[in-house]
Amino acid sequence: MDVAAASDPEGSEPGGTDAAVIGGGPAGLSAALQLARYGRRVLVFDTGHGRSTHHQTNRNYLGFPDGIATTQLRDLGVRQLARYPHVRFARHHVIGVTGDATQGFTVRAQGHAWRARTVVLATGVLDHFPHFPDWQTYVGRSMFWCIACDGYENRGRRILVVGHTDAAAGEAMQLHSLTDRIVLLTNSRTNEISSRFAGRLAAAGVPVVHDRIKGAEGAEGTDGRLAAIVTRGGERLELDALFSIQGATPETAVARDLGVRLNRHGYVEVDTEQCTSVAGVYAAGDITAPHSHQVSAAVHEGAQAASAANYFLYPPELKAP
Ligand SMILES: Cc1cc2nc3c(=O)[nH]c(=O)nc-3n(C[C@H](O)[C@H](O)[C@H](O)COP(=O)(O)OP(=O)(O)OC[C@H]3O[C@@H](n4cnc5c(N)ncnc54)[C@H](O)[C@@H]3O)c2cc1C
Repeated sequence: MDVAAASDPEGSEPGGTDAAVIGGGPAGLSAALQLARYGRRVLVFDTGHGRSTHHQTNRNYLGFPDGIATTQLRDLGVRQLARYPHVRFARHHVIGVTGDATQGFTVRAQGHAWRARTVVLATGVLDHFPHFPDWQTYVGRSMFWCIACDGYENRGRRILVVGHTDAAAGEAMQLHSLTDRIVLLTNSRTNEISSRFAGRLAAAGVPVVHDRIKGAEGAEGTDGRLAAIVTRGGERLELDALFSIQGATPETAVARDLGVRLNRHGYVEVDTEQCTSVAGVYAAGDITAPHSHQVSAAVHEGAQAASAANYFLYPPELKAP
């Protein structure tokens, strides 16, 4: 669904907006919904290139017996928000946010600036999927990363786990509980799998191929189903699904501009109410932790961040001591 551009590109609305939500994935949309229902004016910035914009169907999100495409879930969220005229969208890439809780915040994008009294960061992460011609076609259809999301549908199938660390070896071992047809491909110059994990893989009968990906063959007549991965060394590895365990980078450029504290993994540090180290700034979704990257967690954290931001916006006389 198309979303309206912000009608207030210069931030000329008196007092700016109550809340700027940076990121329009499940976390940001959930935050916007809760804030809207508190009667807050919300401006959602989103570039539409996140984890929730690939081809996957979510089958572990409660309430959708047949599963739901993540893009459809986003569309439904935008439709739900359309009922609240005080929520607006801007399809802009935010390059920075400055300010503080006392003076208010300034959001910068596309050469313009917007004023906001609070900020919710929901910018997600960038996956390091293996890159080969047309790799994006396969993401969410036969190229995955998460056993909780896509392990069950691939039980008994041929799975190629791609990664060169103990994390990849661990995922291969975990997937082994769903299928014994697993091969691990390092896809790296180095093989950093420890001897302990190498021994476990060997004992489970999981072959390790130390080579790099040259290209992929799609299954004929299908859209986005992988048939084989071809390596630079000339191997042809037939598969039904690829699980990429090559990591992800949190999208923290805006958080760093604000001076928000990051944890030792490089994710935004939050407390149980999604408050960051900067007063008036909240964070939700994949950006807050290296694990539990799920739609359910993003939706919960977005709602929690919104409640905390809303409470922050009340004048002191409305708050119990
Ligand atoms: C292949 C695949 C399969 C998955 N399957 C499942 C599943 O079955 N079940 C499940 O629960 N989860 C699944 N996930 C994980 C799930 O998609 C994520 O946990 C979820 O999308 C996180 O939501 P988020 O809002 O934190 O981030 P995202 O969905 O990544 O949204 C972040 C948004 O922020 C925007 N953004 C980032 N930086 C800026 C900026 N500077 N300015 C403006 N906008 C910005 C991006 O454009 C993006 O739209 C899957 C993920 C992938 C990749």
